[in-house]
Amino acid sequence: MNCLHCGREFTPNPRVKNQKYCGAEVCRKARRNRMQRLKLAEDPDYRENQKRCQQNWQSKNPDYHSKYRAAHPEYVERNRLQQAGRNAKRSRSRESRLIAKMYSLNRGYYPRGGAVYRLIPQGAGLIAKMYSLTVRVVPVKDG
Ligand SMILES: [Zn+2]
Repeated sequence: MNCLHCGREFTPNPRVKNQKYCGAEVCRKARRNRMQRLKLAEDPDYRENQKRCQQNWQSKNPDYHSKYRAAHPEYVERNRLQQAGRNAKRSRSRESRLIAKMYSLNRGYYPRGGAVYRLIPQGAGLIAKMYSLTVRVVPVKDG
């Protein structure tokens, strides 16, 4: 029998019916997480109850998350990068639409010294500290 999480072979406990995970802590955790996700997806009562418990806990520990973030700068940085990546993914398409529009408006007219544009990060409401950036876009002869 191989563990569904780590893939290592293990001897199932004869007292556990249909054991699919080995006894390693990470694998037991993975099993619990999976069961909880399934339950959350399938059981509206469970979902509602979990939500209520979380809200209850949060109202009793209002500064837990800000303290956690203060104590784990790497967690904050990782989240910041992931969010910036999601924002960039979203704004790339907006940006290309904007460029296409500018191009059709200008009909091939490019100011000799380039033009000044302001780059404004999209979804700025999601991140507290974001600044716009002013850049000069200078046309280059291609080919
Ligand atoms: Zn395992």
